[in-house]
Amino acid sequence: MKPDFNLDTPVQFLKTVGPARMRALARLDIHTVGDLLAHYPRRYFDRTSTVPIGRILPGQDVTIQGEVLTSGERRTRRGGSLQTVGIGDDTGVMFCIWFNQSYLMKQFRSGRKVMVSGTVTARNGKKQIAHPDFEILENPSDDEDAAGKAGAGLHTGRMVPVYGLSAGIGQHWLRALVDQALGRFSGLLSEILPATLRTERGLVGREQAVREIHFPPRKAAQEAALRRLAYDEIFFIQVLMALRREAHGSQAAVALDKPGDLTARLVHGLPFELTSAQRRASAEILADLRSGRAMHRLLQGDVGSGKTLVALIAALFVIEQGYQALLMAPTEVLAVQHGRTLRQLCEPLGIAVETLTGSTPAAERKAILDSAAAGEIDLLVGTHALIQQDVRIPRLALSIVDEQHRFGVRQRGKSTEAAETDLQAHVLVMSATPIPRSLALTLYGDLDLSLIDELPAHRKPVVTELVQGDGEQQVWQACRRELAAGRQIFVIHPVIDETEGHDLKAATVEFEKLEREVFPDARVALLHGRMKGPQKDETMAAFSSGEIQVLVATTVVEVGIDVPNATGMVIHNPERFGLAQLHQLRGRIGRGDQGGTCWLLADRYLAEDSYRRIRFFSEHTDGFALAEEDLRQRGPGDAWGVRQSGSPGFRLANPLRDAELVRLCRQDARKWLESDPGLRSAEGERIRRGLQESFRGFLPLQSG
Ligand code: ADP
Ligand code: MG
Repeated sequence: MKPDFNLDTPVQFLKTVGPARMRALARLDIHTVGDLLAHYPRRYFDRTSTVPIGRILPGQDVTIQGEVLTSGERRTRRGGSLQTVGIGDDTGVMFCIWFNQSYLMKQFRSGRKVMVSGTVTARNGKKQIAHPDFEILENPSDDEDAAGKAGAGLHTGRMVPVYGLSAGIGQHWLRALVDQALGRFSGLLSEILPATLRTERGLVGREQAVREIHFPPRKAAQEAALRRLAYDEIFFIQVLMALRREAHGSQAAVALDKPGDLTARLVHGLPFELTSAQRRASAEILADLRSGRAMHRLLQGDVGSGKTLVALIAALFVIEQGYQALLMAPTEVLAVQHGRTLRQLCEPLGIAVETLTGSTPAAERKAILDSAAAGEIDLLVGTHALIQQDVRIPRLALSIVDEQHRFGVRQRGKSTEAAETDLQAHVLVMSATPIPRSLALTLYGDLDLSLIDELPAHRKPVVTELVQGDGEQQVWQACRRELAAGRQIFVIHPVIDETEGHDLKAATVEFEKLEREVFPDARVALLHGRMKGPQKDETMAAFSSGEIQVLVATTVVEVGIDVPNATGMVIHNPERFGLAQLHQLRGRIGRGDQGGTCWLLADRYLAEDSYRRIRFFSEHTDGFALAEEDLRQRGPGDAWGVRQSGSPGFRLANPLRDAELVRLCRQDARKWLESDPGLRSAEGERIRRGLQESFRGFLPLQSG
């Protein structure tokens, strides 16, 4: 055993991991031993209790063991293929079915002993399991090598882990690899929770938990391991948030107690009334700004709820008292749009607004930086370009971060560094991500929350139509009617270019067809992420002004784009997008007062979960409902930008489902920090190490 073997050790240091396996593991996001140990089983085969086939009933979740009796495949009416395998034991026969998985046929040769696991359904009186987890019990398939067979004791007579795989990796081999890693770690995996806390919450030790989540001797052990590891996932994020909150609480900020009349003049000049939710949120923000303590507030509101105006009100409140504000957006397209809108609103008030992005020409950039440093720019709008070293905003008092979920936690902190005073600038982050409360407490536990829970009154709903197979022509016809009425259309594609082996609509290819054949009388333009900055700006500006009528795009338009005259959106291959992303995309239309239609042009042949997802989407417009469904379907680890937020992601815990766990961890974290604020006690050291492991380089802790 090398003493330097640790969680950061690359996986190729383990035996049996050659270059090909390494690449296959990388596809699962497994690069280090730590990643491998955190690649928890998707489920388990409980080999201590298989069920005789004759006794299984529809609706049950079962593991059966039997022999392959028949196997075959046929074409389906809709152009796919269906694989069916009959499996029997002494008590009866059942069937496993797959769609479009021809390659499985060579594994299910007659006479082989197999184990399959899944939920039983009944069809025409026959019992079947669709897309089961399975394992060939003898003659392991060709991708299982000697190393896999060597660990044979891992695969039988116990609760056996079933892992998510990628091409080039087999279940047996991966099990043996995890076992090898656990063996080498024996006694080395340090405990990161204080003993008192573990006792109080009845949690098993860390090493035991990691071992038994993979190879539980029995069900109860697996549950105990799960409880412990899920606790860790929530607890450390709660400690981080509590530390930040504490750090915020002690920050003095510019006292803004001499308001002028700018905000009132802005509101009077608007062609509409603020919604009452907008007024309430503004009041909460202005109260923070007056307080003399640094604001750290999250402004949450569904797409189209009018967050930009609330942000502007906050900015003007700062500006009218002689300070500067900045607004940072996650994409160039969005930054430029914000710059344009805000300038229009601010010009009549005599307020100077400038926009700075990565593609601002050097000379212009220098001019902007100079006048920002001289205090001549009141509101500076831009992308990450705003948080570079050479940006000086000496009288910065408010930093606004739009679409926060697109930025990491790290950048959220950085946005105030351009100020030169010793005082902390106020921070307002905005998000259209309608995350439920328990998740918000987890991810944004360091922030106060303002909610815009109401859309402007005149909005008409957007209708969503799911179109599968034929019917595309009718969609284009409907689009032409919108265009004839003077409206504008988005056509969204999942990819820029045609990719090999995928049947996805590509923006560049479709663009030509749309321009020539579908909309010969309209002005059609292309927008995607690989275009140069200025070219993107020009296209977006032309679409905004109505000069361009059809925008053929990728998801570059996903966040924030605001063109109220756009009433139609066609989304190709909607099955390729998550619910959150679809919601953001659809949020681009129906922003004026004429409603809109969103057409989902889906593959005629969809996997069941994809179908369920887009079906749900076509029937719901409320962001919260969609968020909850998304979290339910995918788990919070991938959903709603949780990964990008800088947390290691939730693998076992689900803050949505585990609201009680969130409450406990929050309470435990706060209580611990009350008695040991700097985590300096011997037991507190453990927590400190756990934080370091979970969040690496960006902790609000002074070391030493
Ligand atoms: P989001 O919350 O998605 O960022 P925006 O701030 O871009 O939304 O606002 C969406 C659209 O609604 C904009 O065109 C904006 O001018 C308009 N809007 C904002 N507030 C109101 C209101 N109170 N009444 C009518 N329209 C409004
Ligand atoms: Mg917005």
